[in-house]
Amino acid sequence: MRAMTVTRREFLSTTAFLPLAARMAAGQRNSYDVIIQGGRVIDPSLRLDAIRDVAIANGRIAAVEPSIAAAASRVFDARGKLVVPGLIDIHTHTARTPDGPRMNLEDGVTGWIDAGSQGADKIADPIAIARSAPQQARVLINIGRAGILPDGDTMDLSRADVAAARSAIAANRDIIVGVKARLSREVAGANDVEVLRRSQEVASAFGLPVMIHMGQTMSPIPALFDLLKRGDIVTHMFAPPPNAIIDDDGRILPAVMAARRRGVFFDVGNGQTRHMRWDTIAAVMKTGFWPDTFSTDWGPNSRETGVIDLPNCMSKLLGYGMSVADAIACATVNASKVFPVFNDRGTLNVGAPADVAILELREGKFEFLDNYKGTITGKQRFFPVATVIGGALTQRKA
Ligand SMILES: [Zn+2]
Repeated sequence: MRAMTVTRREFLSTTAFLPLAARMAAGQRNSYDVIIQGGRVIDPSLRLDAIRDVAIANGRIAAVEPSIAAAASRVFDARGKLVVPGLIDIHTHTARTPDGPRMNLEDGVTGWIDAGSQGADKIADPIAIARSAPQQARVLINIGRAGILPDGDTMDLSRADVAAARSAIAANRDIIVGVKARLSREVAGANDVEVLRRSQEVASAFGLPVMIHMGQTMSPIPALFDLLKRGDIVTHMFAPPPNAIIDDDGRILPAVMAARRRGVFFDVGNGQTRHMRWDTIAAVMKTGFWPDTFSTDWGPNSRETGVIDLPNCMSKLLGYGMSVADAIACATVNASKVFPVFNDRGTLNVGAPADVAILELREGKFEFLDNYKGTITGKQRFFPVATVIGGALTQRKA
């Protein structure tokens, strides 16, 4: 059936070879703002993987055709490169640094969520950075009112202050799109279940999701996951035991399966410490319980760590059976479904906002790091080359 669909699309796209007048009648124009020429366009939202030109006008995708013969203010030669929808990173700490949005943009990231860098006390800081970012950027409020603390956000339970979080959200409905609860034993201690309960109390008042940071919790998975509702997000899904999503016999826990059936999203959340280990990844991937989304858990030092950038994180599961198109889907169309702000993104469909990532898929030998100094060698790695956001092109500095 899929082959039939492609055949039909190929047939329809022959309009590109019609005379100019007929092309214009078919929706093509004389000139565009940008044409990205000759790249391998992979857009899982359209099941498209083919050499195409992409034309942009007025900040929107105007045409995706085998050949677009029209003038443009800027032509980008993408031959030998991948052209994909702008990448969406749903777990970052981009708003911890004024330079964050620009650095993410160079990585191909056209939308990001700052996941709980700050709580109610200093929520104005990440909000200011999100507002001034070139990308679609939003913030999750940390249930701990003092934000991320080295000695644990909610080790002192009084910091999980429902009233403070609610009033911060009420004052910033346009930018705060959910609640972040970090539940590991060194963050929440034995308070994990109560911290999550309070997070839901805050979020439910506004119909917002909760993102939980799982892994090495004091409480077992069912005690936490049973409190998750449709639309909530589990980040760090590959966290090794204790309290991984998989048991010692390599089976995904029933409470985890039930959460996915309810519509809970599962996110990678690469990070730097205790969030992913190759043996756990191998065991989880083998079950077929694959992530909905990739995310970096990005910080200003990410380029000097095993994270590097989102395209690098997207490359890590290619050796575990994930296809190039599936990896791109996780960072585009799948991520676009998690938060409403991204619902019209993650696609190169004609008419969509012109957010595009131009990547290189290099073949060779690449070393990838987990959070335990473990390395694997992969044969392919995505590298960021250039980013288009709202029709404007930014090139990655070498
Ligand atoms: Zn994080």
